Formats: sequence, C-alpha cells, structure tokens
Amino acid sequence: MEDTAGAGPSATPPLYVPAPSTASPAPARRLPSLRHAGELPSALDCFHVVNPARSRLAFLLDYDGTLTPIVDDPDAAILSKEARAVLNDLSQRYPVAIITGRSREKIFRLVGVRRLYYAGSHGFDIVGPRGQRDREEMRASAADAERNHRLPRHSSFIRYHVAESSLPSLRHAAAQLHDVLGLAELTMDGERDGASGPGRQLSSSPPDAAGMAACDLRESSSDHSSIAVAMQPEPTSPQYVDPQLAAEYADMLRRHWDIPGILVEDNHYSLSVHFRKCDPRDVGTIEKLVDSVAYENGLRKTHGKCVFELRPAVKWDKGRAAEWILETIENEEQRHVVPIYIGDDVTDEDALKVVIQRGGFGVIVTDDDERETHATMRLRDTSEVLRFLHNFASTPGEGQVGL
Ligand SMILES: [Mg+2]
Repeated sequence: MEDTAGAGPSATPPLYVPAPSTASPAPARRLPSLRHAGELPSALDCFHVVNPARSRLAFLLDYDGTLTPIVDDPDAAILSKEARAVLNDLSQRYPVAIITGRSREKIFRLVGVRRLYYAGSHGFDIVGPRGQRDREEMRASAADAERNHRLPRHSSFIRYHVAESSLPSLRHAAAQLHDVLGLAELTMDGERDGASGPGRQLSSSPPDAAGMAACDLRESSSDHSSIAVAMQPEPTSPQYVDPQLAAEYADMLRRHWDIPGILVEDNHYSLSVHFRKCDPRDVGTIEKLVDSVAYENGLRKTHGKCVFELRPAVKWDKGRAAEWILETIENEEQRHVVPIYIGDDVTDEDALKVVIQRGGFGVIVTDDDERETHATMRLRDTSEVLRFLHNFASTPGEGQVGL
C-alpha cells in the first residue's frame, strides 16, 4: 500500500511548515515503566507539581471515557454543558486539543468549541486554529491580494491528513462489513439507506447545523489549507498470513453474519466495530471477521474498549498525532510547551508515552486499581477530569493562548 501524507498533488502551496522550534529543547525524560493505576497519585493532588505559573501548558484530551462517560451507543456520548464551558474557558488560556477515534466531523459536532485542535480518526485527520503568526501572514497576503486585485490564498485554519491514499480501501472495507453483516447502507452525508435490523446498524450522525455553526472550523470547500509537514508516517511491516488462514478469511467474507448488537462506526479515516452490546460468545467471530476485512483491504486492526478498529497500515497513532500538534504549537508560539495528556483507553498509551518523554504529564482515567499504564497520575472518572481541568481554566497561567 502506498503511504502518503498531506492533501495530495492538487494541493495549494504549503502555508505553514512546522520547523524546529527556537525555544529551549525540552528536558528529555525517561519513560516510566508500566505501573498499576492504584500506585499513581491523584492528579487532583498534583496541581502544585504541574504549576501553570511556571510553564506554558498545552492540554491534549481524549473524548469518550475522558470528557464523557462511556455509553452503549456511541452517538449518545453527548458533552455536558459544564464540560463545554470548562473547555471553552481552558482554551482562552491554553492550547487545547481533542484526540479521538471518532471522525473529525463528528467530534466537531459533539464538542463545538472554537479555538481547539481536533484530531479525528486516532489522529489521521487533524485541524487546528491558525495562530498569531499565521494571522500576520494572512493579513500580509490579504493586503498583497488587494494591491494586485487577487483573492488572498490563506485560509483560516490548518489541516493535516495522514495516509489519504487509504480512503478507497476504508470505503471498500466499510461496504464489505455492511454487506456481510446485513447493515443499513450509509451514504456519505450520514443518512441510512435501507432497513436496519434491531441492534445492528452502521452509525454516523447527520450534520447538526447548530453545532457546526458554533464552531469556527466548520467545513467549507474554500476554507481549507493544506500544509507541509515535518512528520511522515512509515508503512507498517507487511502482515504475514499463511495460505490456510487466507482461505479462512476469504470464506468469512463470502458468508452472511447475523450478530445481534454489533455496531460499525465509520470514522472516515478509520472504522470502529463496537461489540459492547454483543454476546461475548460472538467476539471471536467478530474478531475473525474484522481480521478478514483488514487482510482483504490491506488495513491494520487495533483493539480498544469493546471495539476493534480498522486503520490505514502506517505507523501513526494518537502519540504521533500528539507529537505533530505539539510541534505545531511550539513552532507557532516559538517556545517550549509542557503537555498534559488525559485519556482512558489502551489507544491513549501511545500519547501518554509521548507527553511524558517530552517532559509533560500523562494522566490515566480509570477506576481500576489493577490497570497497567505508562501514566504518572490518575483520575477516577470524567467528573474528576472536569474538576482537574477547571482548576487550570480558572487559574491565571503563564499567558494567554494568543490565538
Ligand atoms: Mg477514550
């Protein structure tokens, strides 16, 4: 499979090139070994350690299980008014990013707060606000355009797509899953076409006009920019499959499967196969089916909380997305930032490792004392997450975000 980054050959000239920051390099920290969550201090007791008066902080946050409680139906994980207010206040003071497995469009609708970076599909699809430096470029471009009677070429936000060449494979995989599971077909605008059996559906909410209007980063064909990037994803190693297994995979895809409770969520740059509501005895079959679709389409399977994910087969995850966002913020602000990452799932461990190695703080959200994690602090649930964030949202930090 060919791996690409950026917006493709028809893209407009690069507008924003994350370059090595002129800020002092972050002190490299050794990655802590895995520990049980029960051994970790509560992040609520560590405000003085993080010390917003001393460091320029940046907040990177997971969504499901972190900002909203985990629910059976992913479409029902609505952000509370309180959480939205905290994010809004926090973004007035610090750079804030949401990094999630959900599609970028859906996380826009669910959060609807301006000024944030949004990294959808586990970081394969990132947008963010243009900062002071870009706004100065935009003003210069607009002035130049006015003098020369041209349209300004700069847009209002930055954007990064990873492995765009995998989109046809993902769409084919979605159609295959739809076909063998007998799910309602999903149109590109999220409306279902055809009957859906009880407990079996292909999930994608239609656009919410109010939510989109609340967000400065709403889609518009004339409001996008492509950017040159400093980080290129590497292909993953080819998957070895023996002939016997390949034959079993092919057989899986020739049959029709009636699996009550299964839900397939199309996140555009990834697919989520949720089995939270399925009979546990069906999970083995579901995994084999997902393996079959992954093999057939050259995609990579990963595993989260009661969900299998299909992603492009490149080395890119929430950790790489966090790195890209932090490089971009540091380039914009021309100084070192201390990141705080908060997440609850195994897919968040990559990002927890990245922020700790950059001298930041990794916070796991779990009520399970036996949970193994690379995090160095712990919060028990989403209400503790909001209390933690509220502390920073209401306390003067080293400076305003300046966006
Ligand atoms: Mg989560």
